[in-house]
Amino acid sequence: MLITAPAAQLFTGYQLREQRCSYCKTTLGEGDPVCAYAVQYAGDEEWTVPRLYCRDCQSTITDPTLGATELLAEGRLGWMMDGATQRTSLTLLGIEQITKSAPEEGHVTL
Ligand SMILES: [Zn+2]
Repeated sequence: MLITAPAAQLFTGYQLREQRCSYCKTTLGEGDPVCAYAVQYAGDEEWTVPRLYCRDCQSTITDPTLGATELLAEGRLGWMMDGATQRTSLTLLGIEQITKSAPEEGHVTL
C-alpha cells in the first residue's frame, strides 16, 4: 500500500540518530539510498525511527507487529541545516515510496 503526504512529512526533517545500516553495519553517507523503518505503538503519539537500512539490506515488513503501525520509507540520506543555529542533522530526503503495516495486520500467537 502506498500512502503519501503525511508519512513523507513525518520523515522529512526527522533527525536520524543512526547512520549505519542495521543489518550489515555499513556507514551510510549523504546521498546514499536508504530505507528507514519507523514504528508507532498503539496509544502512542510519537513515531520513532529505530532502524535504517542500506538498499541492499532493505526488506519489506515481513513480520508485522500487532498493535503497532509500521512504515518503511525509501529515500536517500541528506544533511539539513538550521540556518539560525548553524547545526546540521542527518535526515531522510527524496522519499519515493512508503510501505505501511497497520496495527491490525500483526500476527497473533495462539
Ligand atoms: Zn546494509
